Amino acid sequence: QRIVGAGTGGEEEAVERALRPTSLDEYVGQQTIREQLGIFIQAARGRTEPLDHTLLFGPPGLGKTTLAHIVANEMASKLRQTSGPVLDRPGDLAAILTNLEPGDVLFIDEIHRLSAVVEEVLYPAMEDFRIDIVIGEGPAARSIKLDLPPFTLVGATTRAGLLTSPLRDRFGIVQRLAYYPVHELAKIVLRSAAKLGVGADSEGANEIARRARGTPRVANRLLRRVRDFAEVRADGRISAEVAASAMELLDVDRNGLDEQDRRLLEAVVHKFGGGPVGLDNLATAIGEERGTLEDVVEPYLIQEGYLMRTPRGRVATAHTYTLMGLKPAGPLED
Ligand code: ADP
Repeated sequence: QRIVGAGTGGEEEAVERALRPTSLDEYVGQQTIREQLGIFIQAARGRTEPLDHTLLFGPPGLGKTTLAHIVANEMASKLRQTSGPVLDRPGDLAAILTNLEPGDVLFIDEIHRLSAVVEEVLYPAMEDFRIDIVIGEGPAARSIKLDLPPFTLVGATTRAGLLTSPLRDRFGIVQRLAYYPVHELAKIVLRSAAKLGVGADSEGANEIARRARGTPRVANRLLRRVRDFAEVRADGRISAEVAASAMELLDVDRNGLDEQDRRLLEAVVHKFGGGPVGLDNLATAIGEERGTLEDVVEPYLIQEGYLMRTPRGRVATAHTYTLMGLKPAGPLED
């Protein structure tokens, strides 16, 4: 198992890497984050200090890993990458920390999934650039302190609330990534198309952007599928018509919802009479983990007005019924 590295490999990831913006200027949208990080980075560089530890949170595919790379680039330092679930034992993390060089950026994806014992290694490392490790067992065991070079930890998680508060409190910078509006996604699509060497006009990019679920990763994925279609069935250029017929053929939902979204909404409407239904019941009904629903599926549906969170559970909206071609079932909430 690879603990530090570029990831698991695979074609999707290779393309994703190739499409990744490398500077804050190239990073589309997330205006406030770009502005603030820009200032923090410039200030840290002026003081020749590493950037404060930074926590990025938001649903998958919105650009957290990309930002971590950008932070390292802009700080002219190296990025080391790992993730919560692969760091099994305190020693795994200690090995990474003691190999850091001054100013390195350590990116821990899914940082909320660190085990408690591993997390404890992080506290002094983040606070004082030092770790305490126990060597040996039983009566011969002894604890030694090791100094670490100053570094920046960038943590990513789907929700800040998933972190324990001692960990959260040790981040000086906390940024929340939001879903992207269509015009920003269209910009990303055009940028990616240029990088992939495929022609696309702004209407074509817009067609893709509308169906991308507010998510750059989805936009780039759709772009690649539409490119195939454009090459085989058209003249290779992505126009509005080509994009629209490609997505019709590929059966991509015109509202940008994916299969999980639809399963959730269908369950609320058909199995629970439109709600209110508790999250656990919903999770069981569609065979998903509660956490995934809460952090990945629901936020987009709520933002787009397909779902409401009420004290008594999740409720479908009039919008949902229209989406499904149904009439709203009387009063939705009491
Ligand atoms: P996360 O780590 O949040 O899951 P990534 O950083 O891996 O998301 O981003 C997924 C893909 O979307 C990458 O290929 C990246 O190029 C693209 N992407 C994300 N955010 C942006 C952005 N703001 N501008 C341009 N491309 C982006």
